[in-house]
Amino acid sequence: SYQVRLVVLGGTGVGKSSIIKRFLFNTFTEKHSPTVEDMHYREFDLGTTTLKVDFLDTAGDMQFPAMRRLSIANAQAFLLVYTIDSKTSFETLKKCFEEIREQRTDFQGVPIIVAGNKLDLASERRELVKEDVAEWVFCELPRLRVKLMECSAKDNVNMKELFRSFLILAKIP
Ligand code: GDP
Ligand code: MG
Repeated sequence: SYQVRLVVLGGTGVGKSSIIKRFLFNTFTEKHSPTVEDMHYREFDLGTTTLKVDFLDTAGDMQFPAMRRLSIANAQAFLLVYTIDSKTSFETLKKCFEEIREQRTDFQGVPIIVAGNKLDLASERRELVKEDVAEWVFCELPRLRVKLMECSAKDNVNMKELFRSFLILAKIP
């Protein structure tokens, strides 16, 4: 069996906790309860092997720098979340990525999924086009280990796809 820790990083309020809860429990709430740090454990039966995943939900943002350093050090994969209705959230994501790059000299071999959440707000409040995000993502990160996806925890769009790409990027059968 494989043991993998997936660490979720990004600004406050982008939907990190919502994405995890939608994927693991198929629930969604409108209210924002700030996270300090939550760990969720789940086993996936992949037929020939069992994948054991720790989902580490973080405060994100620039609070708790020591906790974030530790979570970055212990990750086998990252889910970096921004929201399509906030350019600021993408700037925060870039800062998270800079921390990963500084801390993890092996970052080119670590799967990174970049998720643009709140896709349900696209028609009214979109501030970021996927192409602009893609330009940055594929400039900074090796194509083979990165996936960019827009999603909505609220409307349950691309939730399974996000985590499936994590399995594929992690080269797990
Ligand atoms: P976190 O701080 O990154 O963990 O963000 P949360 O998961 O707590 O979500 C912050 C707020 O955004 C909450 O009020 C959620 O209901 C809302 N939210 C999360 N995902 C979505 C989404 O896909 N669409 C919309 N419209 N709101 C969302
Ligand atoms: Mg949270």
